[in-house]
Amino acid sequence: MSFDYDLFVIGGGSGGVRAARVAAQEGAKVALAEEDRYGGTCVIRGCVPKKLMVFASEYSAMVDDAQAYGWDISAGAFDWDSFKGKLHAELDRLEGIYRNLLKNNGVTSYDSRATLVDAHTVALADGTQKTAKHILIATGGWPTVPEFPGSELAITSNEMFHLETLPEAILIVGGGYIASEFAGIMNGLGVKTTQFYRGTQILRGFDEEARNVVAAGMIESGVDLQLETNVVSMVKQGDKIRVTDSKGRESLFDQVMYATGRHPNADNLGLEALGIARGKKGEILVDQYSQTGLPSVYAIGDVTDRANLTPVAIREGMAFVETVFKGNPTSPDHELIPTAIFTQPEMGTVGLSEEEAAAQEPVEVYSASFKPMQQSFAGRAQKVLMKLIVSKATRRVLGCHIVAPGAGEMIQLAGIAVKMGATKEDFDRTVAVHPTMSEELVTMKQPSRTT
Ligand code: NDP
Repeated sequence: MSFDYDLFVIGGGSGGVRAARVAAQEGAKVALAEEDRYGGTCVIRGCVPKKLMVFASEYSAMVDDAQAYGWDISAGAFDWDSFKGKLHAELDRLEGIYRNLLKNNGVTSYDSRATLVDAHTVALADGTQKTAKHILIATGGWPTVPEFPGSELAITSNEMFHLETLPEAILIVGGGYIASEFAGIMNGLGVKTTQFYRGTQILRGFDEEARNVVAAGMIESGVDLQLETNVVSMVKQGDKIRVTDSKGRESLFDQVMYATGRHPNADNLGLEALGIARGKKGEILVDQYSQTGLPSVYAIGDVTDRANLTPVAIREGMAFVETVFKGNPTSPDHELIPTAIFTQPEMGTVGLSEEEAAAQEPVEVYSASFKPMQQSFAGRAQKVLMKLIVSKATRRVLGCHIVAPGAGEMIQLAGIAVKMGATKEDFDRTVAVHPTMSEELVTMKQPSRTT
């Protein structure tokens, strides 16, 4: 049977574009459909614009630090319009790069929604159908706002990059990556920022000591973090939103941003009719080769809800091409993924938290929390954390957690050692780079605690 294409990819985000491009480089005839903008969540409404906003928001504290270092300097006002214009020009540029990556590799792009018709056929929005030997679903995820009275007044991270004006006061709801990162961004941009989290500490699931240091730093920088607090209802009051919270208080905000999780984008794709199974969160269920129950259909990235991170989606896309187009069955490796949370202070983490490791086996915990030289000189009280969790039995470093400026950069490198199976003694054999914050990782002699 002959098909229009060897591969039809639905979704032009990080995972889909990578898989399409690499399959085409292998000589496959490839098409890709994207209903929105090329680049997907990461480039258009996630990692990239978020990080640029983090950069923008960090300058206010830098000005204070510069003064402390003797500079006769004072912060002017932040010009949201000027920044937003540049931000969107940059996103346009990046989208162009993504489009060109496809074009230059001979991938046919359809600016259209695509749905599955049968095991080898997709339908585009205009009703035309295309056939392919393999179909790859890489449709990502979308933010979820729970239903409650007034929930329609909430915005999500998607809208944060398009605000007409910067709010005077914002409420951010949630305690995950997105909520905590945006709390830092808004606070740094001079917005009065309140964050509600329903549990006892933000960033649930991460190392407890590390998230305590992050939360303390955020509070110290001015975020009004309200734990064990949730929104009960919201009503419009003039230009503002009146929020009633679970503690019975009422407050006014210009915007309320919900970051209470994301769901896989797998509705109305035609999966049910083809018997493609979905899990509890609606994610597409796949095996270790990203193959669904229907052998010609594969899925990668956030729509499969494995580890919802861009570099992971890219790895999954590469493993898919390796498996299907290079005849080399390859499973994406989801073990020991280093990751950064661009809160202020920033956190980098790889491996097990102290709590997870201690539940698994006896461990030694090496932890140093201190005021780093640069901030200490400037009179800032923020602490950093360098932490290693070590297996007593094997001496391997099971987890590394860093809260510090540049923690994302540091954990990328520490992640290599941890992934290689480095022991505490391997860390200790490495000469310290002085004076740095991360030298603590190779100079901690005594465990803070053992279990
Ligand atoms: P998360 O799932 O990480 O966090 C959701 C938060 O919302 C949790 O604190 C959760 O509380 C809370 N929550 C859930 N439902 C409700 C509710 N009904 N009412 C109040 N609070 C609620 O989702 P995010 O949206 O923050 O991020 C989604 C994913 O995107 C992440 O898992 C991550 O993989 C990825 N991401 C990665 C980034 C990075 O690498 N730097 C940056 C941004 C996103 P509880 O803890 O009690 O469940």
